[in-house]
Amino acid sequence: MDLNYSAEETAFRDEARGWLSQSLPHDLRDKVVNYRDLSKDDLLRWHTILAEKGWVAPDWPVEWGGTGWTAVERYIFEEEMGYAGCPPLIPFGLRMCAPVLFRFGTEEQKKRYLPRIYQGVDFWCQGYSEPGAGSDLASLKTRAVRQGDHYVVTGQKIWTTLAHFADWIFCLVRTDASREKRQEGISFLLIDMRSPGITVRPIVLMDGGQDVNEVFFDDVKVPVENLVHEEHKGWTVAKHLLGYERMGTGRVGQSKRELQTLKEVAARQLKGGRPLMDDPRFRDRLTRVEVELMALEITNLRFLDQLRGGRPPGAEVSLLKIKGTEIQQGISELMMQAAGPFAQAFRPVDNMDFDHFTARLAARYCNMRKVTIYAGSNEIQRNIIAKATLGL
Ligand SMILES: Cc1cc2nc3c(=O)[nH]c(=O)nc-3n(C[C@H](O)[C@H](O)[C@H](O)COP(=O)(O)OP(=O)(O)OC[C@H]3O[C@@H](n4cnc5c(N)ncnc54)[C@H](O)[C@@H]3O)c2cc1C
Repeated sequence: MDLNYSAEETAFRDEARGWLSQSLPHDLRDKVVNYRDLSKDDLLRWHTILAEKGWVAPDWPVEWGGTGWTAVERYIFEEEMGYAGCPPLIPFGLRMCAPVLFRFGTEEQKKRYLPRIYQGVDFWCQGYSEPGAGSDLASLKTRAVRQGDHYVVTGQKIWTTLAHFADWIFCLVRTDASREKRQEGISFLLIDMRSPGITVRPIVLMDGGQDVNEVFFDDVKVPVENLVHEEHKGWTVAKHLLGYERMGTGRVGQSKRELQTLKEVAARQLKGGRPLMDDPRFRDRLTRVEVELMALEITNLRFLDQLRGGRPPGAEVSLLKIKGTEIQQGISELMMQAAGPFAQAFRPVDNMDFDHFTARLAARYCNMRKVTIYAGSNEIQRNIIAKATLGL
């Protein structure tokens, strides 16, 4: 097993790092590293810069704009973006809807939707979860009844990230409620968010931010050509998409950058007249997180080595989601500890030179509670590992 980058991979990393340092606008980086809210314009600005460079969708087929990079190069680029402090690329179009269309879409659907996703013209969101159907997704109830050349959709989705920005939503809907097996009778529909009968209602999270929404469908007409794959076969599509959702949740590059910042904050913060960084208990906690992060990186590299050898990683990639998100939460907890009373939300901090940063820490801490829930909760990821890898 080779856990080092080859000379070509190292050269690629240097090229990516150099380009990012030149191309990432300072104001966007400033917002990301200081945990400030990103607007839709911010997200699209970064998307467009990458699209113009031809690097916005590295894993797409080359004929549709993919870069042709190896899995290792794609991973390196991802981690370099996280380390540099780039805004996130919103995955719903690029990383969820697009792979579904490549695998199951008609030529017409591909031509209609993919170029607009690549250019950032259409903003997508994901309509899977419903009240009562999260981990147990197959119990979803939103109904789609075929009437001539369209479906009529009625029901509710919940936790729909960035639905308030979205032009389109891809939805799992029940087209046949009579099937004994709940996974059968589900279909995958693409729905224009401007359709009459759609209402988006914000859910304000405990950090005061609005990332997620409830989406209501009240007799919404959806043309039948917006069905992806066969009617009643949406569960196959849903599973294909969830595999992609789990990728990219480890965020090693981002955690490395945040850990570096944490060390800088702890070196400046005094406890009993000495830098917090000299406190053995604080150092112990910080070191544990750092060691976990190194272990996560090595685990990532192990999976990449498998990919180099042509062996796709299986259910054990759930490990990356569990560990990556636990580390992200661990860092946010230590940040709070390091900043002490200055980490309180809305509290003016005028005697510290990192005030913008510390003033956002409590909100950040609250916001990070979500990472062990979304993209399949960590408990569900443990079940996947237990069943598929350990055979329990
Ligand atoms: C910030 C955020 C953004 C989200 N964005 C989207 C989005 O854009 N689109 C979308 O469709 N969904 C989205 N979700 C929904 C997300 O996928 C669900 O919240 C998640 O799948 C859990 O479902 P639930 O909330 O219904 O909780 P439940 O499924 O009710 O689970 C409650 C608790 O029980 C545990 N649990 C449930 N079943 C088991 C089991 N079998 N074994 C062990 N433990 C179990 C869970 O781990 C959890 O701790 C988002 C969620 C959050 C928090």
